[in-house]
Amino acid sequence: MSRVGYVGGSYLPHRSAAVHIEDRGYQFADGVYEVLAVIGGHLVDEKPHLARLSRSLAELRIAAPMSNPALNVVVREVIRRNAVRNGIVYLQITRGSAPRDHAFPTAARPVLVITACRNRPTNPRAAAEGVAVIIIPDIRWQRCDIKSVSLLPNVLGKQRAKKAGAFEAWQIDRDGQVTEGTSTNAWIVIADATVVTRQADNAILNGVTRLAVLDIIGREGYRLVERPFTVAEAKTAREAFLTSTTVELLPIVKIDEELIADRLPGPLSRKLREFYQADAAAVG
Ligand code: PLP
Repeated sequence: MSRVGYVGGSYLPHRSAAVHIEDRGYQFADGVYEVLAVIGGHLVDEKPHLARLSRSLAELRIAAPMSNPALNVVVREVIRRNAVRNGIVYLQITRGSAPRDHAFPTAARPVLVITACRNRPTNPRAAAEGVAVIIIPDIRWQRCDIKSVSLLPNVLGKQRAKKAGAFEAWQIDRDGQVTEGTSTNAWIVIADATVVTRQADNAILNGVTRLAVLDIIGREGYRLVERPFTVAEAKTAREAFLTSTTVELLPIVKIDEELIADRLPGPLSRKLREFYQADAAAVG
């Protein structure tokens, strides 16, 4: 079955779907995006994803191309046309296409692109054995709370991780505090089984998975502090893990050359992963 993409109002064969050469997303990274998981044919955490999308658009003063209920219908249609049971939906909105000029164009109409993928990386080995992260400086801008398509530092960081044989790169700010991964949020578990993750400020993307895990922590009565943590604290933590829509929750067993939790996925990380998966599977 061939894939179908949605571009600027039409459902088109994925392989030939395209945007204009002067699309501002292409020329200026002037756009935002969301990645949603589909499990058992149902969208996971659709509401917070669409809320974050609306917020990103508002922060960049890009008009929403359609209402959220309408977007809801189009996303479902893309899922249906691609027969996605377990997969990923990618949604991108740019300011539109216009003759190249940095300032906002007066006449451009936002361009919505939606693609769907029929599988999702399940990472069974990564979940069972844990993953490694490296530490890199955070060279991004000061509005990482906006889910912008401007991802070059993230791309360079992920490539550094890949080259080092690691799964992810944790970025550190000028004070030596961990902000987040290149496509994941960062967590540690400290001595008295307290979970620590950076507060949702402008230095990180407030992950929808992060919010779901915070909910689980509250519901299950685990201890939590939202504050920055240093690399040194992370390297001596009891456990560490990362979260995102695509990979869910993965335990970390190595930070640079330092082994975490005796190189075994920590018990709390495993427990939280199980809760997260059970909640995600229960949607719909
Ligand atoms: N942080 C960054 C920089 C990301 O790009 C992502 C996901 O793409 C996340 C965190 C995790 O966000 P979510 O849980 O909404 O997928």
